[in-house]
Amino acid sequence: MSVPTDNPALLKAQHRAISRQMPMMYFILMANTWAVAVTHMSFAPFWLTAVIPSVFTVVCAVRAAHWVKSHKIAPDPETAWHELNRTNRLAAVIAIVFTAWSFTLFPYGDAYTKSHVAFYMAITVIACIFCLMYLRSAAFAVTAIVNGAFIAFFVSTGQPTFIAIAINIVLVCAGMLAILLINYQNFARMIGAQEETQALSNENLRLANLDSLTGLPNRRAFFTHLNTELEEAREKGKRLAVGIIDLDGFKPVNDLYGHSTGDRLLTAVGERLSAFCMTGSMFFSRLGGDEFAFVLSGAPDDQGIVAKADEICAALQTPFELSEGTVFISGSIGISVFPQTASTFEQLFDRADYALYHGKRAKRGCSTLFTTTHHAQIHRDARIEQTLKQADLDGELAVVFQPIVDIRTQRAISFEALARWTSPVLGQVSPGHFIPVAERAGIVSSLTRPLLRKALSIACEWPDDLRLSFNLSAHDLNTSDSILALVGIIQKSGFDSSRLDLEITETAFAHDFDQVQKSIDMLRLLGCGITLDDFGTGYSSLTQLHALPLTKIKIDRSFVIGLHERPASYKIVKSLLALSRDMGLDCVIEGVETKAELATLKKLGGVMAQGYLYSPPLPASEIANLIARWNTPAEAASAG
Ligand code: C2E
Ligand code: CA
Ligand code: CA
Repeated sequence: MSVPTDNPALLKAQHRAISRQMPMMYFILMANTWAVAVTHMSFAPFWLTAVIPSVFTVVCAVRAAHWVKSHKIAPDPETAWHELNRTNRLAAVIAIVFTAWSFTLFPYGDAYTKSHVAFYMAITVIACIFCLMYLRSAAFAVTAIVNGAFIAFFVSTGQPTFIAIAINIVLVCAGMLAILLINYQNFARMIGAQEETQALSNENLRLANLDSLTGLPNRRAFFTHLNTELEEAREKGKRLAVGIIDLDGFKPVNDLYGHSTGDRLLTAVGERLSAFCMTGSMFFSRLGGDEFAFVLSGAPDDQGIVAKADEICAALQTPFELSEGTVFISGSIGISVFPQTASTFEQLFDRADYALYHGKRAKRGCSTLFTTTHHAQIHRDARIEQTLKQADLDGELAVVFQPIVDIRTQRAISFEALARWTSPVLGQVSPGHFIPVAERAGIVSSLTRPLLRKALSIACEWPDDLRLSFNLSAHDLNTSDSILALVGIIQKSGFDSSRLDLEITETAFAHDFDQVQKSIDMLRLLGCGITLDDFGTGYSSLTQLHALPLTKIKIDRSFVIGLHERPASYKIVKSLLALSRDMGLDCVIEGVETKAELATLKKLGGVMAQGYLYSPPLPASEIANLIARWNTPAEAASAG
């Protein structure tokens, strides 16, 4: 019957209900008390009818005020327990004191006032039981004390009316207590049910914010967390960093071993990232696919952030031991910092994403901080995109040609067409700038078509033994519409398609490998060659490359720079050349700038090369000239 301690929710609910009713109980108690005091004023002494009721009033008012305040605070379960227990004790004391006062008053006055005392005690105890219904122990104590004394006292008077009233009041109180017990049980059950519903909805909320595969917070939780942390960083003037992590090389693992292996790899990645949460201020989540993110609250200086991100990159570069074997992947990270380089929620996310995209293009497996240079780039890219969308592409785009040379004979065997854009608004814009912008804006195919038309019509004029190389973007291969348009252009051009090489990069396989494969098959059916450009920079699996009917690979410029002095580059070029021989593919080495580089390439058995050493890209009008010059032996010797 005493206050239970094992159910905090019930304790709080009891306290809440009681604290609402107690002021009412004190009000009824005082109103009834003063009514009796007033009817006795002319019979009983002053201290009994005025002084004691006044003292009661003060005590009751203080307690009532306490309950009003306590109701607003809603205390913790422990405080609630203490308060309820105190109420238990106080209820007994109040019952005893008021009963004693009533009996002291009883002898004064006539039959009417005596009946008033009996009525006072009966009605007040009923009101108190009612008000104390959420604290059973107090209600029972008050009933026992008041009714016990009531019966003993009035039965002892021998007065039949009072005896009848006493029996009456006992019956009514017994009935009321029975109702109170049922009511209390319902109350406890209702609180229990509420608790369960609350727990269930808490669990639902938790699941809705969790990534089911890795157990990390999901995208929704990430944005909620970022929002809260950003608010706090703003208020307290603290720094905050957002990092977006993209896995390099996840796709090949998924394609090669299947989705369940991919899932296990992602789970393992999630576990490695979770290890970094131990430091407290880092919050990791999986945004979806192979993309993860973190929020670093109270971020250190830029150097510190980059150091932390590099630790993450290093952790991801450590091989993963799966049952299928050892898997090598890496992770690139783009980071933005509040308030230095981003001031809003959207900016933080978009700029981290931008830094990731650009960092990845330069070097994978590293972290890149969004800088003011990136900021300038965004502006430049936005202008390029706007201008490009309004440009007269046919009139403004042109192609230049760079020879690909057989280093044994020093003769041009092919020319690579490279796009040039002269905008009336922006002037000359490098393809290194406008092609990626057009790719991201999804409009690159509208550039490819006029460029291919122009390149083919120029190449139609060339001697029959010269080939043409032309660069395609991922988007050109990604839909059957765009590839069919290109096939149409090639067929209509009159250029022998078996003299055409189409250069693609590994980014083309990142999206829809099946469609890309179909597109490439279609081009091969036409008789075109397929060159894999920038080879060595991507992360495609060899299985994937093997599945494609490639005819050439082009070793990326980055491995050629100073290769005679850099053992790492030397080894890479050597093994890439060996690989191309094993795969039965021709190999072009691009970006040859010095005689020393060329000499080393010759030693390694390289056959085809391209670069400023031979010639920069030239306008179509200069090609005939170049060929004529190279065909005179003295000139050719000086070029190589
Ligand atoms: P890419 O396909 O790798 O083309 C080679 C780039 O290297 C060209 O830059 C070329 O001028 C440059 N280059 C050639 N020899 C040397 C050298 O010895 N040293 C150095 N440092 N650079 C050399 P460009 O013309 O600025 O083109 C840049 C990129 O833009 C191309 O890289 C290609 O990815 C893209 N691009 C150019 N034209 C087209 C096009 O018509 N369509 C598509 N989709 N992309 C194109
Ligand atoms: Ca190329
Ligand atoms: Ca290239």
